[in-house]
Amino acid sequence: MSAAITQDVLTVPRKLSDSLPNLVGMTRAQMRAALIAAGTPEKQAKMRVGQVWQWVYHWGVRDFDAMTNLAKDYRALLAANFTLAVPQVVTRQISADGTRKYLVRIDGGHEVEVVYIPEEDRGTLCISSQVGCTLTCSFCHTGTQKLVRNLTAAEIVGQVMLARDDLGEWPTPGAPRVETRLISNIVLMGMGEPLYNFENVRDAMHVVMDNEGIALGRRRITLSTSGVVPEIARTATEIGCLLAVSFHATTDEVRDQLVPINKKWNIETLLAALRDYPGLSNSERITFEYVMLQGVNDTKEDAYRLVELLRGIPAKVNLIPFNEWPGAPYKRSSGNRIHAFADIIYNAGYASPIRTPRGEDIMAACGQLKSATEKQRKSARVN
Ligand code: SF4
Repeated sequence: MSAAITQDVLTVPRKLSDSLPNLVGMTRAQMRAALIAAGTPEKQAKMRVGQVWQWVYHWGVRDFDAMTNLAKDYRALLAANFTLAVPQVVTRQISADGTRKYLVRIDGGHEVEVVYIPEEDRGTLCISSQVGCTLTCSFCHTGTQKLVRNLTAAEIVGQVMLARDDLGEWPTPGAPRVETRLISNIVLMGMGEPLYNFENVRDAMHVVMDNEGIALGRRRITLSTSGVVPEIARTATEIGCLLAVSFHATTDEVRDQLVPINKKWNIETLLAALRDYPGLSNSERITFEYVMLQGVNDTKEDAYRLVELLRGIPAKVNLIPFNEWPGAPYKRSSGNRIHAFADIIYNAGYASPIRTPRGEDIMAACGQLKSATEKQRKSARVN
């Protein structure tokens, strides 16, 4: 299956590291303060924020001069004081199954990956929150890449905006309203542990959820954590999105290997935090992600133990056939094992969908993301 790879630069954003403050990614309060600091009269500031917000996040306009409901001199003031920048798309790969993987460059020349997965009834954008990762989950390609830095709120929101650019999803003034969204869901399941970059992720999701802009509902956003227990409740109270947990094992002995943060907050501690997750209900269940690794965590006993562990938690279990990557120390469980596992979970009353690997031909499947930043850093050190 040959993948179509596009090497050209898809958008011509201003250099991210432009010295001017970037309004992208600012919360409304931060933008209001910035506009006032740049000379906007205080009593006009709220209105100006609303106008700029709509241009940037509803119409997808990133040229101040095109914001025609603003006076010319005010547009000039904005252009003299601010920038509207999103990460630069370096490459876009399109898989034979329609999955798109973007390699995007951020400040400092670092790169992260963003994946768009179109399905019949939805379009999911998988976004990153760190360059590399704080953690080293042994089944995850990103886990082999040391943490370089957290993404800013602008770089997180910017991933959604550049994907909308590429998919042509910004509405056109005067054109009839398009009901079906191409990006109907966002998952924070890309590179990095989002709860180790809480504030930037929170602010970025507030921008994405804001009703006057991109307006994606909170239940259309799922944040996946490997188990940073102290930040779990805040996800509900300060972001309000759905929660997924990288669970992947039913004993501490195995989870210590697969998800080393388990040594800090083990299964019992994690489950206790999940049982207390604010707003938990059958309509807002927690998703337990479970990668199927041959001979590691895929026995019937594992399945029965998982059912016991979930008792009392409104949950669903996403079974992920392992997606191999160069040098990976594991193999995918057999189809029969995965289905037998799924049946046990399902018969116990939990939804247990088996995730269809997408974009494997372009290394876009779960756990396969890794940017070249590490290799570059290594080669830079050698030279
Ligand atoms: S699974 Fe998530 S938390 Fe674990 S190494 Fe990969 S990106 Fe980091």
